[in-house]
Amino acid sequence: MALTGLEIFKQLPKKNTGDCGFPTCLAFAMAVAAGKSSLDKCPHITEEAKETLGAAAAPPIKLVKVGAGNTEVELGDETELFRHDKRFFHPTAIAVLIKDTDDVAAKLENFKELEFDRVGLHYRTDMVALTNDSGDSSKFKAAAEAIVAGSKAALILISEDLAAMESAVAAVAGSKPLLYAAESHNYEAMTALAQKYQCPLAVKGEGLAELAELVEKITKLGQKDLVLDSGSRATSQVLADLTQIRRLAVKKRFRPFGYPTIAFTSKEDALEEVVQAGVYLSKYASIIVLKTDKKETLLPLESWRQNLFTDPQKPIQVESKAVAVGEVTPESPVYITTNFSLTYYIVEGEVESSKVPSYILPVNTDGTSVLTAWAAGKLAGESIAKALKENDMESKVNHKTLILPGYVAVLSGSTEEATGWNVKVGPREASGITKFAKENYA
Ligand code: SF4
Repeated sequence: MALTGLEIFKQLPKKNTGDCGFPTCLAFAMAVAAGKSSLDKCPHITEEAKETLGAAAAPPIKLVKVGAGNTEVELGDETELFRHDKRFFHPTAIAVLIKDTDDVAAKLENFKELEFDRVGLHYRTDMVALTNDSGDSSKFKAAAEAIVAGSKAALILISEDLAAMESAVAAVAGSKPLLYAAESHNYEAMTALAQKYQCPLAVKGEGLAELAELVEKITKLGQKDLVLDSGSRATSQVLADLTQIRRLAVKKRFRPFGYPTIAFTSKEDALEEVVQAGVYLSKYASIIVLKTDKKETLLPLESWRQNLFTDPQKPIQVESKAVAVGEVTPESPVYITTNFSLTYYIVEGEVESSKVPSYILPVNTDGTSVLTAWAAGKLAGESIAKALKENDMESKVNHKTLILPGYVAVLSGSTEEATGWNVKVGPREASGITKFAKENYA
């Protein structure tokens, strides 16, 4: 049963150091009781207190790690049902399916293409789920070894055949693969395997009731790192199961469901598959396994993931650093904008399309857009002067003319005064940059 904030408070050191991120021990105790923090955030708590509070104060969803070193993926450790209540912490891992009958080398070559940068953000497909379609344990083992040696992917080993599973896991145990899956007929043997090689274990039930029962049996055997699969494959049922698991874990502290989850897509068409995966990503899969491994179909899913797992209270920002677009020269124009990512990348795209090599100087406005920053006094003559100075713009160009976004033309006078630069008023919308650049700089 969950502990109250006061019961937790009694066991805390009561030093009010703030090291846990809360101003007082009482505030921290309340947060732990509400599932919004965990005891390990207090570096001063005694082992004895930790034991006393035990599982009752553990985070509602356990943090489980799959992979090792640069392939490691962290799953779970979520505290919210809704992102706007706080934030989601550990992005859903995206896994692509590879069969051991596939041309594994070619698949891995393609997998490398699934890691790339876009609009200043790093996109990555995190895992490979390897199936034992060949029924041949040596082939399964060889494919697992090739994936570990030739990719930066964390591995999921999928096999019903215990001998094949053991031969593969023995070969790649150091990479901490996720073993899929313990079911009612084989859970003892699969758990023993996971424990022998210290790997996380997926548990698959036929429905939620069986899943809860299985998890209880497996945890009694001492296996702690689990990933849950309700066994459903139809979109609406998977969504219902994932939601129920999350609700029971976060709101009711139902321990058998306090683990990350895995979902498999069932659609054959790649686009339908990605839409299905988008549903699972939204609520609440920790891993999604897809058959498609095409960059263009995974990109929307990964973009959605980027959006969902940002902190809604913090605008996404770029560094306030002058960026040269194209082969700049000392005559190149200097565009001023703000460091709100969306604004910056729209401006960058338009400057690039104008084909006039230019500098873009994103002023630090705490990630707010042009008009918001202006209204808050964050985009002003002084902040522009500071950005010009910090980026040593005078040494980069042989003129002293900057281009202000048209919406803040009102800042022209104060900017000239604060910076000593001449101001040219640019277009109001970024879409006008090409025309503006051609008229003024072509
Ligand atoms: S870190 Fe520990 S001692 Fe310090 S305020 Fe938080 S709970 Fe109290």
